[in-house]
Amino acid sequence: MLEIIPLVLGPVSTNCYLIADPDSGDAAVIDPAWEGQAILAEAQKRGWKIGQLWYTHAHFDHFGGAAEIANALDPQPVIAMHSAEQPLWEMGGGGALFGFKIDKGPQPSVDLASVRTLGLGGLTFEVRPTPGHTPGHCAFYCAGAAVLFSGDLIFQGGVGRTDLPGGDWDALVESIRTQVFTLSEETRILSGHGEESTVGEEKQFNPFVGEGRNSEG
Ligand SMILES: [Zn+2]
Ligand SMILES: [Zn+2]
Repeated sequence: MLEIIPLVLGPVSTNCYLIADPDSGDAAVIDPAWEGQAILAEAQKRGWKIGQLWYTHAHFDHFGGAAEIANALDPQPVIAMHSAEQPLWEMGGGGALFGFKIDKGPQPSVDLASVRTLGLGGLTFEVRPTPGHTPGHCAFYCAGAAVLFSGDLIFQGGVGRTDLPGGDWDALVESIRTQVFTLSEETRILSGHGEESTVGEEKQFNPFVGEGRNSEG
């Protein structure tokens, strides 16, 4: 069973997901957005051990809490990120553009470009490369729980912006078509900002990539 604790954190209301296999107590954080202490407290309250941090991409608002978490843990958590995000990560996630300077925390040690799955206790997550919002953006899919953690690829009624450095609209649309819309319609979409959705809902109603787009009355 997969347990998911969603937290909305930081200056641009980023969704951080503390996830765990409660049978083993193994926990991971998908996008430790901000306020690392708050994320740690949620894990401690449940007796979970955070062993991994997974980044959908390296914008500052998706890993701004990583340093606080890493500083508090022994052993250090394993940090997974796609290597194409490295330049953005080095620059502090582009936060300077928005007036934020963050402590980057430890260098990621697992390159999502070279792993197809990530394990958490008895659970398996498929790593889905989904460039467009950023070049090394990845989504994490747990087939056993029918959940896709979509980062800033797709939102309820929206898609990730592609006007920031490294953004590519055509790649974004292709990523959504091949990596999201190919999943079963009931699959839950837990994204980097905003409310939860499903593949079926976005396929039908998303104004940018859904079936109803560009329809004129
Ligand atoms: Zn982003
Ligand atoms: Zn974001």
